[in-house]
Amino acid sequence: MSAVGTAAVPLRVAIVGSGPAGFYTAEHLQRHAEIAVEIDMYDRLPTPYGLVRGGVAPDHQKIKSVTKAYERIAAHPGFRFYGCVELGRDITVEELDAHYHVIVLAVGAPTDRRMGIPGEGLAGSLSATDFVAWYNAHPDHVTLDVDLSPAEAVVVGNGNVAVDVARILVTPADILAATDIADHALARLRESNITTVTMLGRRGPAQAAFTSKEIRELGEIPGVTLVVDPADLALDAASQARVDEDAHRILGALQEVAGRVPTEKDRVIRLKFLTSPVEIRGGSTVEEVVVVANELVDDGDALRAKATDQTAVIPAGLVLRAVGYRAEAIPGYPFDERTGIIPNDAGRVKDHVGRYVAGWIKRGPQGVIGTNKADAGETVKTLLGDVADGAVCAAGDTDPASIDKLVRTRVPHVVSWDDWLVIDEAERGAGAATGRPRAKFTTIEDMLRVLER
Ligand code: NAP
Repeated sequence: MSAVGTAAVPLRVAIVGSGPAGFYTAEHLQRHAEIAVEIDMYDRLPTPYGLVRGGVAPDHQKIKSVTKAYERIAAHPGFRFYGCVELGRDITVEELDAHYHVIVLAVGAPTDRRMGIPGEGLAGSLSATDFVAWYNAHPDHVTLDVDLSPAEAVVVGNGNVAVDVARILVTPADILAATDIADHALARLRESNITTVTMLGRRGPAQAAFTSKEIRELGEIPGVTLVVDPADLALDAASQARVDEDAHRILGALQEVAGRVPTEKDRVIRLKFLTSPVEIRGGSTVEEVVVVANELVDDGDALRAKATDQTAVIPAGLVLRAVGYRAEAIPGYPFDERTGIIPNDAGRVKDHVGRYVAGWIKRGPQGVIGTNKADAGETVKTLLGDVADGAVCAAGDTDPASIDKLVRTRVPHVVSWDDWLVIDEAERGAGAATGRPRAKFTTIEDMLRVLER
């Protein structure tokens, strides 16, 4: 019998998840011309691209142009897309095992971390991941109750997601109107009363997770003043000793804006460091956030935030927690609750030849889109090493027609790559009419309706 990966027995790969990690996995596999590979990529949505479509901010269109590279990967012979197919709902891991030589999970980290403080569940206290998905027209989040009638908002966290949501909250709606922001979000933002966004970092500016480019952008929004207290940039000795290149750039960007005073007409983003929320208070909805001042303590590894006894109250009618994404356990796979990842050795699921992971489910919710390139490269190297060792073999029926038939029986409305191109074209066409890159569909039904024409 021929070896797996030859023209007679192409390596059959199921990639679950069509975000950057999924596409870079496909690309790395396609680069190995000496191995015959057939790739089926699954996504639970009709639309590909994961967080590039549902996470990247609408005013960052340049970043989204990475999808051009993904289109080339999808156009490669031996690539098929199965949209609207959810692992665990429409097809089981065991069924994929039976129809492919290997499975690569690249499902990301779809949910968010919690702060674990009283009042977190009040109306008006939202996760930034939900808010991001809402303004990016993710079909699961279009009904999110986002009340922008209050004047003050608090964003918890000092990462790039916190920066994204703070920026979207105060950017003039006319600027956002030229992007692919969801229509419902644009309408709500046009009516917004938000004038002040306070961003809380539990540690200092030298420990911030955001990048200098993103923070600089906050200082350049028309009609918005980024308020940074110059005193916050005077570092303690322990922070000073640990300033690396990234922190140096961030501090430089903050220095440029420190001390700016807003005019009366300006909207404001205020950065508050060494501050943690301890309680969100309100009646039927959020009214204020109780915060505590922190000091930094060296635990040997890093400088951690430790609460002091100084508290304060910040009025706020909206609280967005942007304290990190979190992956979910996948039936049939081990899951480390503490780290929120599937335990793996360089991409191979622990003790499981034939099952692999890439992206945030593999390494946790860290890094930019490009980080997934090297990450997927490592997984593919492990995977192809297992193939070369003869450790990967077919468990059942790897005829591509068999799985195709099974999927179509389960999901008659399955979306192919050509179908996606039709949806894509419809969105672009609708956007062009109003000078926008695209006008996104907000429901799966609307997307599927385009395919019936
Ligand atoms: P992140 O970079 O991990 O930032 C999370 C932030 O939340 C950190 O400041 C963290 O502080 C803070 N935090 C965590 N738990 C907290 C708590 N209980 N109370 C208060 N603060 C808490 O995560 P992210 O912002 O979700 O971004 C995820 C990844 O996507 C990052 O790699 C990011 O760079 C990337 N991303 C990039 C862009 C872009 O390139 N424009 C846009 C969006 C996202 P500590 O540091 O003290 O833990």
